[in-house]
Amino acid sequence: MPLIPQLFRTDRPARHWRSENHYRRLLEAAPDALIVVNEGGLIVLVNVQAEKQFGYLRDELLGQPLTNIIPEGFAGQLVIDGARSGGEMLANQQAAAVDLKGQRKDRSWFPIELTLSAVRSAQGLLTIFAIRDITSRKRAEANVLQKMDELNRAQVTLNCIGDAVVCTDLTTNITFLNLAAETMTGWPMKEAWGRPLADILNTGASAGNGSSANTAELAILEKCAELVPTRCVLVRRDGTKLQIENSVAPLHDQYGNASGAVVVFRDTTAAQEMAQQIIHAADHDWLTDLPNARLLSRRITTAIENAQRYGLRVAVLFLDLDGFKHINDSLGHSIGDQLLQSVAKRLVGCVRPGDTVSRQGGDEFVVLLTAVQRKEDPANLARRLLRTVAEVHSADQHDLHVTTSIGMSMFPDDGHDAETLIKNADTAMYQAKENGRQGFQFFKPVMNARAVERQSIEEAMRIALERREFSLHYQPKIDLRTGLITGAEALLRWNHPDRGLLFPSTFIPVAEETGLIVAIGKWVIQDACAQAKGWSDAGFPDISVAVNVSALEFRSERFACDVLATLDDTGLLPGNLELELTESVFMKHLDSAAAILQSLRSAGVQIAVDDFGTGYSSLSYLRKLPVDTLKIDRSFVAQVELGADEAAILTAVISMARSLRLHVIAEGVETSEELAFLHEQDCGQAQGFYFSRPVPVSSFVRLLLQQADGQKLEGAQCKQTLSMGPPPMRAL
Ligand code: C2E
Ligand code: CA
Ligand code: CA
Repeated sequence: MPLIPQLFRTDRPARHWRSENHYRRLLEAAPDALIVVNEGGLIVLVNVQAEKQFGYLRDELLGQPLTNIIPEGFAGQLVIDGARSGGEMLANQQAAAVDLKGQRKDRSWFPIELTLSAVRSAQGLLTIFAIRDITSRKRAEANVLQKMDELNRAQVTLNCIGDAVVCTDLTTNITFLNLAAETMTGWPMKEAWGRPLADILNTGASAGNGSSANTAELAILEKCAELVPTRCVLVRRDGTKLQIENSVAPLHDQYGNASGAVVVFRDTTAAQEMAQQIIHAADHDWLTDLPNARLLSRRITTAIENAQRYGLRVAVLFLDLDGFKHINDSLGHSIGDQLLQSVAKRLVGCVRPGDTVSRQGGDEFVVLLTAVQRKEDPANLARRLLRTVAEVHSADQHDLHVTTSIGMSMFPDDGHDAETLIKNADTAMYQAKENGRQGFQFFKPVMNARAVERQSIEEAMRIALERREFSLHYQPKIDLRTGLITGAEALLRWNHPDRGLLFPSTFIPVAEETGLIVAIGKWVIQDACAQAKGWSDAGFPDISVAVNVSALEFRSERFACDVLATLDDTGLLPGNLELELTESVFMKHLDSAAAILQSLRSAGVQIAVDDFGTGYSSLSYLRKLPVDTLKIDRSFVAQVELGADEAAILTAVISMARSLRLHVIAEGVETSEELAFLHEQDCGQAQGFYFSRPVPVSSFVRLLLQQADGQKLEGAQCKQTLSMGPPPMRAL
């Protein structure tokens, strides 16, 4: 480039450039367009390149102002500056640095690079412009810029994604790491560059399919992507480990030749932990984290297989907490849950590491003893479990007492599969409960007969209502001051087609478990109200009827409405209906219970707390609930027989009821001693075998008629009446 302008420098001898021919040859040989401009800025000389570049014929260019083809003021200014500076060469750099454009004859623009020199001649100061069309160079530059831009963008993108990306060359040496790869491997890009892939992506021997470097080599060689993710452990630079999943693909250059490999991997530690949690959750109980029924079943199956092999036994212990429902109902689920967690912890503390404690749901737990050598081992464990569960538990500042009943079954004696063993242990547990709770019981085949019976009760009970097999018996309530019958408690009886008259203890628990109690209870209220209305119509308007209400019934949404509708239907005065509820029925949701009771009481219905004294320890609820009567549980009345100290509670309850202005009735009065004591304490009412057993309605009406005739119920000989004979009462 500088060659031509140098020829025209002012320090050259004049004779050289005066040689027209020589000068023209040089001019034409130059690769650039050369244009000579006089002091007035007009073109005086051009070469062929200039014609080509600007698309003019030589003659068209000559005489034109230079600014016609390089319109930038700069070019013109250069000429003026050149003249002023007396022909000194002007700074090439300055000219080259400016983004100049030339304009062709067709008015199109093209980028140029300009170098100029000035010479003083006979025609004055001439400026020689060497002009190079730099279109292709600019294009190339733009291409490079665009490439760099793309690369930049790719890098930014790669740095934004969560997956780690590592690129290598053909020899699997590192050429690139994105940010995620830097973080995961612990290697900054600068340090990793040029190192073998295996150093950076150290998957040790854990990668079942070979190391990451091997996989990358393979991908390059075979030109195929190893896209099926491989799971392996990445040993990071600091030695810590990560679970990763990686895939490898070969990289190709623009001609399709392999140029390296790209490895993409991600941290799957969290995902795998999550997967493990999901698997764990499927097999464990959410509340106690003990194995659930599914896992237990699998473990029993395995234990049986092992026991078979070594001639050992397997024991299954089925535990059910006694009275848990009561705690749950009265203190709420949260306390109940804490109690279950505490029990679970205690049970786990009692067994060997190879044994399993599982929660079946509710308050039921199953313990699996594997490899039992002696038959007494499970019994010893059962004793230990009973003791440890019975120790006081604390939850939210409550000291809780709970006991458990345990049923046990053994392989091979009582079953050969998990299901049978659990079922039989469950059956034995029911037996343990019936035997008086807080005990354990081995399974015996005869127990199955009882389980079958329970099942048959459920089935028969489902149709008993339709078949009108239920009836109510009435036990009189006596006013102790007047000795007169004031009302009766309605007690449910089931006239079973095969078994005869059944008492509530045989079927009410099943009815409560199955929910049948709601329909049965509705019938009871309906029948009792209709009956009492009959007595009223027959001339006994003051005789009230008391009905027992189960928790489930009370909690059913329409309970209060149904009761009021029944009173409406039957026409019984609300004051002649008393509802007997145990503390556990309303304890759980004290506020909503209070609202329901209030709605009934404001209609005139009487409310009694049944079995008073056996349930809840705090009495503060009595202030919150609209209660009329406390019905003292039979267990306190029976204490009278034992002496004054034992009867102290009864005395206290009666005086408390009086101070709360509540009516009090003693239930289960069987002896004259008990009656005398109640008289002494000025107890308002009493009920019990001493006066009369619960009797069919016809017998009760007879009692009312006798009373109307002036006879009172009194002083029945308990011992005689206890032996249930019809009519089981004594009217004096
Ligand atoms: P409860 O409400 O405590 O009823 C009193 C129970 O004590 C009755 O037993 C009654 O026969 C018995 N009893 C009465 N006087 C004496 C006595 O002097 N000595 C002794 N040892 N017992 C006496 P029953 O009829 O077998 O009822 C048992 C329980 O069944 C009732 O206890 C009550 O909780 C429930 N129940 C009875 N009928 C119904 C009903 O219609 N609905 C609901 N939900 N439960 C009922
Ligand atoms: Ca009752
Ligand atoms: Ca009772």
